[in-house]
Formats: sequence, structure tokens, C-alpha cells
Amino acid sequence: MLRATLRFRVGLIDETLATHGHLHLLEHLGMGHLDAPPYVAYNASVSSLFTSFDLEGPPAEVVRLLSAVCDKLGRIDEDEVVHEAQVLEQEARVRGSGVLDDALYYRWGAQGPGLVYFREFGLLRPDPEILRSLALRAFVRENAVLALDGPVPEGLSLSLASGGERLPIRLPPPARRLPGAGPSPRPLVSGLVRMNEAAVVGLAVLRTRVASLLMAEPGGTPWLATLESLGEHAHVALFAQSGDRAAAEAAVVLAELNRLADCDVHEAELADHLRMRAQAADRPDASANEPWLAMDRLLLNQPTSAAARSAELASVNAAALRAFGHQWRQSLLLTVPTRADAPAGLPWLTGSDERIEAGTEGRTHGVMPGVLDEKGAKIVRVGRVLQHQTTEAVTSFDLDRVALLASRPDGQRVLVGDDGASLVIEPTLWRDADELVRAAEDSVAPERCLELPARPDDEIPHPLNTWERVLVAMFGTRAKLWTFGILLILVAAALVGWALIAAGFSRMLGLLGVFIAGALIQLFNSSRKQT
Ligand SMILES: [Zn+2]
Repeated sequence: MLRATLRFRVGLIDETLATHGHLHLLEHLGMGHLDAPPYVAYNASVSSLFTSFDLEGPPAEVVRLLSAVCDKLGRIDEDEVVHEAQVLEQEARVRGSGVLDDALYYRWGAQGPGLVYFREFGLLRPDPEILRSLALRAFVRENAVLALDGPVPEGLSLSLASGGERLPIRLPPPARRLPGAGPSPRPLVSGLVRMNEAAVVGLAVLRTRVASLLMAEPGGTPWLATLESLGEHAHVALFAQSGDRAAAEAAVVLAELNRLADCDVHEAELADHLRMRAQAADRPDASANEPWLAMDRLLLNQPTSAAARSAELASVNAAALRAFGHQWRQSLLLTVPTRADAPAGLPWLTGSDERIEAGTEGRTHGVMPGVLDEKGAKIVRVGRVLQHQTTEAVTSFDLDRVALLASRPDGQRVLVGDDGASLVIEPTLWRDADELVRAAEDSVAPERCLELPARPDDEIPHPLNTWERVLVAMFGTRAKLWTFGILLILVAAALVGWALIAAGFSRMLGLLGVFIAGALIQLFNSSRKQT
């Protein structure tokens, strides 16, 4: 049996919110309809930095299937694109969220690793030409590494295009000012630190300390740890297995993080962890894993030699662990179920509005008369910033930091900022909406724009007409308006009937009058609704 992974340096950080899902789609096209025998295991995945194709089976089969994957990546078929995009939309409907999703969203908003939190907008209207050009940039020899757990099998030949380059790593800046805390059902403490051996050892030290403290309490369960290398940086996190004791457990974890950042680490404790780390590298199964470690380092342009790595491990000392604790604390993000679970003093992240101190003044767009949902709201435009102001909140959208501008044929525009906050511009609801739309369209790059399919007419919002407004003013909400309308019809019909009978017409004629009057009023009402 031979295990193989073909990995490319392309991942979520190379997508925008508008193209999010393209790599997932290409990954499915590469391994979809693979005619693999049942004794061959295969899988494909997209992470923040990488897109990977894994195979395990008899060497001859692995050789054949690897070359089939490369062939498929080089020939993107239009019909398959449409079909597979639908399959993925279905898949998205049943997929649960990952442990880290909320934390990645708070840290990066609608960009880079944060995209994992968002719907795959790129699947709505996948353009085969755009997918082909992405495949041509990403799935080339210069951007690929193949890891094998045995000798290179005979006849291995991968038909990847050449002449491309290793894609650079551009990690987006954080979307919010950190440290901070935000809501999530899963208690989690994450940070962004330098990627080195001190990060690996430091995380192990912290996890061990936290586990022994939590296990000492009745019913306590240890928190789990995870580290994802993002090139020069690493995203590190410790997370609880349940939210039952979020406040108490988070306090323990934060206290230990502070201790690591402020105090010396005991020599014996550090020596223990370094010994465990060195032993892990010497275990027999570690050598089988060696090609996979080397693969990632190759793709990230990092030294791969064993000597370089043991030198890195030798440089881990108490000062390096303190530095690791410092970096984590500075970039700290805590997620807990409720605000009450977070320690006082840690800023609470609710949306983008915490960045804004006060509303600014500028070109002001109010709502049309008869718009109830946005009553008193306005959109103020100052230079390249749109600010949505209501009585409760002020949210700013920097047109130079827009993750997505989605448009519908009826004129609706949806702006999503890099931080994930969104603004819906309905031309039917806002005054001079075309000016807002033009300002947005002039500044957002094409790869961040997306055309959404048309929506049914009854989903397009309309302001109320004068007649409806008077009634709403008298009776409150729109829902009550309909109850009132029906009541009005009944009363009017009864009045007509009573008038006819009183005027000496027969009862039958009276009832007929009631019916006709009711029908006319209903007809009038439904014709008003359409406009
Ligand atoms: Zn999938």
C-alpha cells in the first residue's frame, strides 16, 4: 500500500467572499467521479493555505488516480461545473459549523481564514472561465508538492502545467481591534503568534497546565488545543468540550496564559516538554510522517532539513515561551456563550460599530416616505465611507475595504465589509439610492463583485402608500393592518347590506349587494398591493 498527498499552496486566503467556494468546487471536480476501486481510500480538502488530494492504495492504482486528478484539474468541464456547484450547495445545507469558525470570523471578518464562517457565494454563478484561470494559476508544478510514504512508484507522471509560480502568502490584517471577546456557544481562547518551535512547545505547556487545573475540579474536562501554521504566523487555540462552565474555565485559561506571558517557566517543566517533543520526532511513526512535514515546509519556503529543525527546537527557552505568551495575549480573542461569561475589562465585540465613536456628517440619504422598518435611519456618505446610522447603532463601510458587492437585477445591492458587517441598499427604500450604488460600484474591484439571480416580485420591499400609512399611523404595525383591512371589508359589506334592506330591497338583493361590495373592496386592496 502507498499513501500519497498532492498538495498545492492555494487556500481560503486566496479567495474573496465573492469567489469563496471556487477552490472547494475545483477540489470536487478534481476528485469527483474518480473511478477508484473500493480498496482505494481518497479524500480532498481546502484549508486556509492549502488544497490537498489524498490517496491510499496499491501503488499502481495511486499512480493511475493521481494522474487522473491532475488531468481533471487541467480540463474544467462546463457541465460538470454547473452540476457540482449544485451538489456543493446541497452539501452546505447539511454541514455543521467547525469549532473554530466563530473565532476565525471575529479575527478576520469576511476575508482569509474568516471565510470558513461564510456561505460559499462563489457557487451561486460559477463561471467556468474564471475557474479555469484559477486552476491554471494554482494547480501548476511550481505550486505543488507530492508526499509519499514509500519509494516513488514506477510510471508516476503528473500532467500538471508548468511555467507558473509559488503563490505568495498574504494573510489579511485582523478585522477588529483585539484583544476582545465575542459570543459563541463554544468557549475558546485563540491567538495569532509567530510560527516556530516555541509556539508548538508553548501551546503544549499551556494545554498541560490548564488540563491539570481543570481536571482537579469535580466534573472538570480538559480543554483541547489546535495550531494551524499560516506561514510566518500560527493561529493557536485552546477550546472547551462543552459550554457548561464557560466563565469559570475561561478564567482559568486566561490566568494561565497571563502566567506564561509574565513569569518564568520552570526549568523542569520546559525540559519535560522539550524531551517529549524530541521523543515524538524519534518515534517510528514519526518517520512515516516526515514527508508530510517537509511538504508543508517546502510549500511555505521554510528550511526542511532535520538539522535546521533540531536547531530551532534547541533555541526554545523560557524567554521564547514568554514571548509566545505575550504575542498570544496581545492578539487574544475569547469566545463564550454570553457576555456575562467574559471577564470585565475585555472589550466585547458585537459588530463593526465598536470602531465608530460618533456619526459623521455628509451627503445624507434618508428613507422614502412610508418605509417603516428603517424609520429614522439614514445612510451618510463622506468621501469613500458609507455610514448607516440608526437610533441604536452606527455602522461604517469603508469602500476601500469591501469584501463583497452583490447586485440583483431589480437594483438591490448588498455590501459586506471586510469585517463581515453588511449593508443592504434597496432602491425602493432609500432616497437617491442610485448615487449610493454608483459610489459603491466605482470603488469595488471586479473580483469582489457578484451578480445574484433575480428574486420574486413579492420579495422586493416597497414603501407603504398614503392610504396604508394613515392606517398604520392609526393602528400600528403592518401585520395589524391586514387584520384591520379584513375587518373594514366586513363592516363596509354589512353597511351596504343594511342600507339596501332599509331602502326596501328584498333580503336576497341585500345579500347580493354585500357580496359585490366585499368583492370590489378586496379587488381594490389587492391592486394597491401590487404597485
Ligand atoms: Zn466538499
